[in-house]
Parts: sequence; C-alpha cells; structure tokens
Amino acid sequence: MSDHYERVKIELQQMKAVESEAAADVEQLSPASVTSVPAEVSFAARRDLSRSSINGRSRSKSRSKADGHERQVNGKQLSDLTPQKSDYSQEKGQSRVSNEQNVKGTLRLLKGKTAANGHVESCQRQTDLKCEDHGKEDGSKVAKKRRAVTVDTSKAKTSLEALKMSIRQLKWKEFPMGRRTACDIYWHGVSFHDNENIVSGQVNKFPGMIEMLRKINLSRAVRTMQELFPEEYNFYPRSWILPEEYQLFSSQIRLLKDSDSTLKPTFIVKPDSGSQGDGIYLIRDPADLRVISGSQIKQAVVQEYIQKPLLIDKLKFDIRLYVLVRSLEPLEIYIAKEGLSRFCTEPYQEPSQKNLSHVFMHLTNYSLNVHSGNFVHSDSCSTGSKRTFSSVLYRIASKGVDIKKVWSDIIALVIKTVIALVPELKVYYQADIPPGKPGPTCFQILGFDILLMKNLKPVLLEVNANPSMRIEHEQEVSPGVYEYVPSPVDEEVKVGVIRDTLRLMDPAQRKQHVTSNTEGGSPEDAIVVETGSDEKESLTDSLPSLCLKQVFPKYTKQFNYLRVVERIAAIFLRFLGVKGTMRLGPTGFRTFIRNCKLSNSSFSMASVDILYIDITRRWAGMLPDSREAGMSLQAFIEAFFYLAARRFKAVLLREQVLLLLEVCEGALEGQSHSEKPRPHRSHPTQPSAPNAFSSPALTRRHHLRHQPLQLSAKANTEN
Ligand code: ADP
Repeated sequence: MSDHYERVKIELQQMKAVESEAAADVEQLSPASVTSVPAEVSFAARRDLSRSSINGRSRSKSRSKADGHERQVNGKQLSDLTPQKSDYSQEKGQSRVSNEQNVKGTLRLLKGKTAANGHVESCQRQTDLKCEDHGKEDGSKVAKKRRAVTVDTSKAKTSLEALKMSIRQLKWKEFPMGRRTACDIYWHGVSFHDNENIVSGQVNKFPGMIEMLRKINLSRAVRTMQELFPEEYNFYPRSWILPEEYQLFSSQIRLLKDSDSTLKPTFIVKPDSGSQGDGIYLIRDPADLRVISGSQIKQAVVQEYIQKPLLIDKLKFDIRLYVLVRSLEPLEIYIAKEGLSRFCTEPYQEPSQKNLSHVFMHLTNYSLNVHSGNFVHSDSCSTGSKRTFSSVLYRIASKGVDIKKVWSDIIALVIKTVIALVPELKVYYQADIPPGKPGPTCFQILGFDILLMKNLKPVLLEVNANPSMRIEHEQEVSPGVYEYVPSPVDEEVKVGVIRDTLRLMDPAQRKQHVTSNTEGGSPEDAIVVETGSDEKESLTDSLPSLCLKQVFPKYTKQFNYLRVVERIAAIFLRFLGVKGTMRLGPTGFRTFIRNCKLSNSSFSMASVDILYIDITRRWAGMLPDSREAGMSLQAFIEAFFYLAARRFKAVLLREQVLLLLEVCEGALEGQSHSEKPRPHRSHPTQPSAPNAFSSPALTRRHHLRHQPLQLSAKANTEN
C-alpha cells in the first residue's frame, strides 16, 4: 500500500479520535442549545451504516492511472494549477459530462444493491436518520391509487444516480430515454435549454440562471442591492469587476494603504466563468493582477479576501447549502436543513507574501483538495475533509456558539441573495417562456457557498447554478488504480435534497399548495427549532418529513421591503413587451418616460434620447458578449436611479428610488389594461407590490458610491 494511503488511514483515525472527544464535550451541553443537531447516537449509527455500505458497495469500475504524476498537485502553487476538470461535479453550468461508462458501471452496481422492497437500502436508512422524525418506510403505503408522477431523466447527467434513488423512494415513474408524450417533471443536468421542446410540466432549471450566477453578474446584482441597502447586503465581500474597474480598484487600494500603512489587505481574483477554483489566485497589490491572457483581457472579479475565517482543527472550511427556488412568482424559497462542509487540507495561516500561493490552505474547493495527500475520505459524516454541515454546527455548538443565530444569519443571506437575482431572472423568464405561449414552469436547486468568519458572520462566496449532485467519488485504492466508490456524506445530503425537491414539485401537491405560511416568527425559528413534525409540509405520510424548509414566503414580513428592484423590473418588462426580447429599444424607453410622465420643461425628450444612448452604449461595452442591441435591465436600473436622483432631493438613493417608483406605478395604474402584457403562469409582469415603504431602516446618510472604502479585512482585526 502506498505511503499516501497509510497516511490517510492514520489521519482518519486521528480525526475520529478528535470527533469522539468533541462528542463527549457535546454530551455535557443542555439539549436546548443543540436542538437541531442529530444526537451523537445518530452519528455512531451513521458511521456503522456508512462503513458497511462502503465495504459492501465498492464499485468495480477501475481505471489505471496513466496520469498519476499529474495528479500529484500537493504543495502546488496556486498559479500553477492547470484546470483539472474533474468529473466529480458540474458547477456553474459548465457541462462536465463524465465518462459515460463510469456512470453506467455505477448504475449497474446501484441496481445490485437495491433491496427487496425496491428501495436503496443504506441510502434510505441514512436519509431517514438525517430527517428528525423518522417516518416508517413502508413501500406498500406509498402507492396510493393515483397516477405515478412521471420524470424525464434523459438529460440528468451527473445527478442521475441521486435522482434515480429519489424516484425509486417516491415510487414515481422514470423515463430514462425521454418520452413521446409529456412528462410531469424534466430533470436537466445543466440548463433550461438542455431540451428545447418542452411545452408543459416543470423543468428543474430556470432560463438565465447560469448567466445570472456567473461571478460578474452575481457581483453586479448584489452591488445594485448594496447601493440601495448597504447594511443589509454587507454579507458579500467588496468586489470589483475587471477589466472595467481596474483603475477604480487600483486607486481605491492605493488610497486605503496611504491612509493607513499598517493595512495589508489581500484580494482574491476569480475568472468570470471559472469554477472549482480554476484560475483563482491571491494578490496583495493591484500591480500583481494578471489582467491579460494572450491577447485577451480577462474578465474577472477581484474581491476582498476574508482573512479571518472560522477554523476547525486549524483548517479553513466553507459550507455548501442547497436552496430550492420553487417559483419566482410568487417567490418561494426553501433551504435544505443539511449541507456539506468542505475542508482545506493544509492548516490555515493568515495570508502573507510567503503563503499566498498555498492552494490547500486558502481554497476549500473539493476538486482541488482531493488532490492533496492530506485529503481524508471519511465514511463518517462528521470527520474527514467533507462533512455534513450539521456535524460542524454540532462541533461549534459544543464551544458555546449560538447556532440559532448562525442559522438565522444564513437564512437572511440566502433570502436576500435570491431577492437580488429575481429581477433579471424574470426578464430571462419572459424572454424564454412568453406569457400566453405554451411552456413549462420552472424550479431550481442552487448551491450556495458560504464562509463563516471567525466572528461567525456568514459571507457569501458564490452561488452555483448546477451544484454537483454526484454521490460517489474517485478513490485511489492502490497506487495508480482508481475506483468510483460511494460517498456516504454526499449520498446522505444530496439524495434527501433531490427527493424532497421532487416531493415539493409533485403536481398533485402543487395544486393543493397554499402559500399562506406567512405568519412569521423569525428566521431563527426556521431550522434550528424543530418541533419534530411539520404537518403542513409532510406531504407523504410514509416518507421522512421534508428536509427542505420553506423560508419564503414564510419571512415575507422581514424581507419584502428589499424587493425594490423587482418593481423597477416590472416596469421594464411592461415596456419590453412580450416578443421574447431582453432589451428595451429607444422607442420603448421614450414610451416609458412619456407614460410615467417623467419629462418636463427641464427634461426634454431630446435629453431622454441622450440618456438612453449614453447608458446603453456604456453597458454594451460592459457586456461585450451580448447579442441583442438595446437597453438591458441593468442599464435601465441605472437610468432609473439617475432619474430618481435628478427628480428627488432626498438624501438616500433608496428614498429617491422609492419616490420615483410611486410616481411611475401611480401613472401606469390608470392606463388601459390592453397595454399591459397578460400575466403568465409563474411570472406575471405586474409587481407583486411588496411594500417597499415599510423599510425599517431609512437611516443611512450616504449612497454606497460615495462611501470611503472600508474592508472587512480591517474590521476583522477586531475579532
Ligand atoms: P469557484 O467557483 O472557482 O469555486 P469560489 O468563489 O467558490 O470560486 O472560490 C473558490 C474558493 O476560494 C472558495 O471555496 C473559498 O474557499 C475561497 N474564497 C473565495 N472567495 C473568497 C473570499 N472572498 N475570501 C476568502 N476565501 C475565498
């Protein structure tokens, strides 16, 4: 056996010893403080289950390791890492369709382990353990006399295995090769457009989600919200978009350093369309930016690096949380109670010139760290380099941390982020599924990557449109020989998320679904304080209670005031019409001004045209790959902000914008219905009229653009 394998075994034993110690600590705690976390007995049971499952199910699919040396990237410099597109995951909408043979081989083996009752044995047991009130898995009860829900899995790609398990558990009907007649649900591996011919049913991807979640677009969407609500959106690190903000970035950092020479901020540079850590590097000076690649200027986001993350066992880790956007209109968001924590494999030190390139110290990506000699594949959910989030919460709760508050902050982060994305998603939606035309409705599971700072504040790193749903990993079983083996931790988390997403999208349930759960409570009640059963959401008696928890509309009262840009988008959509376009032409813009009565003697229609041309031209330069001409939503929002600031002398941009919205909505209300596009299934163009005037905090003095640069790197020093 290789040294590497020996080392992994020893570390595994050490980590288990540490875990037992932590478990002993936790047993001293009062039950109330860790209500959400499975008892240690569950961990032990899980460990046993996992162990037996991994032994009994090791897949025979092997490949010899021709590229063995290339894979040894331990200690490799950040900048040296060539894109090692592992086929473990399929992040950010990039199709990483893995070796089909491997998938097929795996499936064969999975069939082999299907138990007599038609359920996948260990997965089911593990998933039952996770969900707190264990429903009895009795297949005979599940099959009520109604037509089985049909699922087209022909485009599922790497999520296929977890999807198959879920469908089997639900006793639904799978169509692996597609179906001539319509299915109830279409499961796509990458994008809404994986299958272009869907006219009904529900698709598990929204049009435009991949585009919206590219690093630059996400940064833009959050920044728009930061301009309106700087305090509410301070969970996203300060970011600059390259190349357009290179000068701004350089000058702001120079000013910052001049003002305080003790400051040593670090920045992380992320290529726009990258994923899995590809092309990411750390810098301490703008001069170190690699702006050009070949003859091309690189599109990237440069972001403040969070220097003081929370550590466990001296290692940095991040959290992958699964979030279901069940519908855009009305907005419905669910969060999975369980997630994954991905650990670095080299002890963390604050960035210094010496360690900037230590990828295994600074980046938590599984796809990178799996190549470190220190990576620990564990058959337990609470040890190793990939663990369940609940086991991490359990560890930190044992240190006296208020995990209710941590969850509540995470829920707020998720809701606010989705609120930032919704306006543009609605534009994509209308372009792809115009109102009045046949088409499916959409839902989507997103992967939120969150870092906890040392002071426990969650920070959003990114959102993945296509979080990996793989439930197996590649493992070197002897030198040069790799096998696909089940990953109990992935299986436990991901099968639950997919199965319960399907349950929520069950067409029969959807009809009955009442979105009246807006009574409130606070986000702190949502996940941590479990009563054990949730009848409203326990859709099927014979399955465990849902592992997905509704957070919106549940917390409408707390967050609806943030939905200001959605109201601007509703006006934009109204003048865009329903012709499948995403850009507003000059005539549409003029009509908007005229219908909202925004021009007057001091703002003539000629000025309107100049405004349109100026802003549209500038945005065309910033969105070079855009095919359509005209004014994008982002450009329209900028024009709207400009008009608001011009017309109202209120101090805050947010107040100005709200006043202008009132003017526009008031003017449009009186106009004939025939001018308005007809509302469509999941996306009426009318604003859902969130009452933005109920904002609790209209106190901030300055608009974000005018604020001096302050980085949390500095705030961190106080932690
Ligand atoms: P990718 O899509 O390539 O995975 P991410 O934005 O998720 O890109 O960044 C990769 C990793 O880098 C994260 O998992 C995290 O460990 C680290 N990271 C990203 N942004 C920051 C940040 N602002 N501060 C500290 N660490 C970060």
